[in-house]
Amino acid sequence: MLRHDSFLKAVLFSRRFCSSSIEKGYPIPESFLVNAAPHHIQNFEKYKEIYHSSIKEPDVFWSSQAKKLLYWKKPWNRALDFNFDVNKGKIYAEWFKGGLTNACYNALDRWVESGQGDRIAYYEEPNLPSDSSRVFTYSSLLEQVQRLSSFLKQTCHIRKGDTVAIYLPNIPELPISMLASCRIGAIHSVVFAGFSAQALAERIMDCKASVLITCDGFQRGSKTVHLKRVADEALEIVKNAANHHHFHVKHQIVLQHLKSDKSEYSMHHPRDIYWHEALSSSSPHCPVEWVDAEHPILVLYTSGSTGKPKGVVQATAGYQLHAASTFLYSMNYHLGDVFFASADCGWMLGHSFMVYGSLANGATHVIYAGLPTYPDPGRTWAIVDKYQVDQFLGAPTLIRSLLREGNAHVKKYSRQSLKLLCTAGEPINPHVWKWYYETVGDSRCPVVDTWWQTETSGVMLLPPPIEGFIQKPGSAGVPFFGILPKIFAQTENGNIEESNHGTLCIARPWPGIVRTLLNNHQRFEETYFHPFPGYYYTGDGCIRDEDGCYWLSGRIDDVIGVSGRRIGTTEVESALVSHPHVAEAAVVPIPHEIKGQAVYAFVTLRANVESSENLHLELRQVVREKIGAHAIPEMIQWSPALPKTRSGKIVRRILRIIAEKGHTLSPSRGELGDISTLADPQVIEELIQIRVSLM
Ligand code: ATP
Ligand code: MG
Repeated sequence: MLRHDSFLKAVLFSRRFCSSSIEKGYPIPESFLVNAAPHHIQNFEKYKEIYHSSIKEPDVFWSSQAKKLLYWKKPWNRALDFNFDVNKGKIYAEWFKGGLTNACYNALDRWVESGQGDRIAYYEEPNLPSDSSRVFTYSSLLEQVQRLSSFLKQTCHIRKGDTVAIYLPNIPELPISMLASCRIGAIHSVVFAGFSAQALAERIMDCKASVLITCDGFQRGSKTVHLKRVADEALEIVKNAANHHHFHVKHQIVLQHLKSDKSEYSMHHPRDIYWHEALSSSSPHCPVEWVDAEHPILVLYTSGSTGKPKGVVQATAGYQLHAASTFLYSMNYHLGDVFFASADCGWMLGHSFMVYGSLANGATHVIYAGLPTYPDPGRTWAIVDKYQVDQFLGAPTLIRSLLREGNAHVKKYSRQSLKLLCTAGEPINPHVWKWYYETVGDSRCPVVDTWWQTETSGVMLLPPPIEGFIQKPGSAGVPFFGILPKIFAQTENGNIEESNHGTLCIARPWPGIVRTLLNNHQRFEETYFHPFPGYYYTGDGCIRDEDGCYWLSGRIDDVIGVSGRRIGTTEVESALVSHPHVAEAAVVPIPHEIKGQAVYAFVTLRANVESSENLHLELRQVVREKIGAHAIPEMIQWSPALPKTRSGKIVRRILRIIAEKGHTLSPSRGELGDISTLADPQVIEELIQIRVSLM
């Protein structure tokens, strides 16, 4: 087996990680089991039985799911064909090749054709609680999608395989645009509406989109974002670079969402056209383009936590199947349930659980483009009560920020409709898990902590919400059906062996696996398949405990080596967050003369808590007790906030540079690398100032 640089850092985590974190297991609550009628799987014993047969014959398992969850115009020739071994040639995975389907048809037409068009697909929650909401049924979505598809085809001359760029906030027109694109066999590239003109321009040029769909602007809390102005700036950048790229954006479709004064932005004729004019002038009938299962459906960039974002390409059927199947089981979704993810359709989680996977299950969603804490920190739970939400999904960063504001904002609302809580995107610290479970869910709702990546496109690890499964705060549970994780570590004599703690890899393809990185198959092979030939490399460290539950311990690249002992970021951060005054923490290595590396901690305190020397000592003590003296932070820096990606993930690579050389950074900050994916780059400046003052 080949070695890989970052793998040399892998990982003999302290076994204490598990034992210190599992203070107590939580059975799936009885009241949930009685009321929620889990899906076809009586209990965890049955789950394991299905899992084992799905691993023995993954193609048989996924074929049965494919027949159940998707419509096939023509059946496939072969369920699975793949090569995962770089020594045997090009890496590829093909699911259901030869089969014809369409993801928009699966999402919308099926419901309308079976007389269920009045089913509600989206309740749109407005920015201000007092404004009226919009409601979109499956029929109304389908009509708008067809009109937009017709326009894209007839006026913009978009053909099968062309790319459509979408730059919209989290409003129903975002899924409408995505579905209109895949209905005609085009490939969409959604760019999250928080990105800058430069980031948008780079993504447009990368995928050579000839159409951009955007809107005048939107409100997020008290802030108005003038999106059209940013889009125009991006198109200017694209135009100026056009000589190098030999293409240009010919059409821009502009939704009047804010209905802002037209003097706020300009329309460039003939390039720009209003959404409502485009739709009203186009046919409400646009036939579905049946595409091969492996036809690309989308490109989407990773969050950029660890470096330059990667343009993940997904294939139609496998992608939608994995999304639909994991949505159904992990959310325990039943027709009529209302699902609310405090997330954006512009991320993979939103693509899968708010569009392709959830619509394929006939789901009803709440979609919200505003702030979860506006006008006050109770807004999220107000929305839950307003729409009687059954399943709620929030990322750990959101849950931490709500916890920080105290319980009163939660208790003010009933939350009685909630059946299940979900989290995804980052490790959830056990103390935050408990708050979510006990305070938000009143100990009635399972907490489904799902582990996935943009590249996996659907859930890979989950605590199944079924009888007999014991939830462990901080553990992402067990593998989903058909998923075969492997953990590798380096032994003392330097060999690489399977282990219960080390680097997480996946043996064999699953339907939603990334097919390639846009324009860069070589980077695809190098990133995911060179480190461990024959396996997909996740980049995450992981521990499997004696019950077969998985614990994500942090990115392999972030592992800290203190006096020859390897420390994952998650365990130290969770120890710090277990202190009642701490809201959030991030740890990174700094060089140390004797120990090799030492732990440097950035700590954000809860609202109304002051930092003090005493607290400093208490935090050191917490880490000593929970993990051991070797993991005690050498330095603790009080931090008003932490740098995060726009999807809300802590960016440790930047914290590491600040910790290591904050005082020597050049004014241009060039050493920090790509910071275009940061939500609030200003945070960095504050942290650098504090770092310098500590010298
Ligand atoms: P980039 O790949 O550009 O560095 P990224 O990895 O943050 O960015 P995503 O695909 O959005 O981009 O995030 C996937 C990563 O998020 C996983 O590899 C893992 O580190 C983390 N993650 C996701 N879900 C969980 C979870 N439930 N528990 C722990 N970590 C999680
Ligand atoms: Mg990643």
